[in-house]
Amino acid sequence: MDFNKIKEMGLEYAEKGKNAALDLAEKGRTQAKIVNAQSKLYKAQRQLGALVYSLAKGNEENQPLVDKYIEMIANIEQEISDLKASLEPDTVIETTFEDTEEAADGTADAAAEPAEEKPEDDEAKTCPQCGAPVSDDALFCNKCGAQL
Ligand SMILES: [Zn+2]
Repeated sequence: MDFNKIKEMGLEYAEKGKNAALDLAEKGRTQAKIVNAQSKLYKAQRQLGALVYSLAKGNEENQPLVDKYIEMIANIEQEISDLKASLEPDTVIETTFEDTEEAADGTADAAAEPAEEKPEDDEAKTCPQCGAPVSDDALFCNKCGAQL
């Protein structure tokens, strides 16, 4: 009789321990996604700065392209704040799951990026849409606005 109680308690604690471990693993993944999203954010911000500077320098305007960067930056900021919110202990689990799924899609691209950035500097990067030369770090083509 007592043995069954102890066994029950043991199972209960084993289950709790398992959940805690899963929770920690999930948090680790979320933190990695935040780091990833933050580097994506800095990259987009740097690119926007460079774009605005080169436009101003050439006395040109390209508001649609600037808007694309601003939209992308806003999206990444939203992604980061969602990820951070999902780390808060009081967040409803169901919503955080949905958020991290979406974020996973977004960060999948970014995760694939470093592989593309091999040191093949001899060949200049070009836009797959219009073939215009684009800078290595550019997120959008300066000519046609295609996402790179
Ligand atoms: Zn293009």
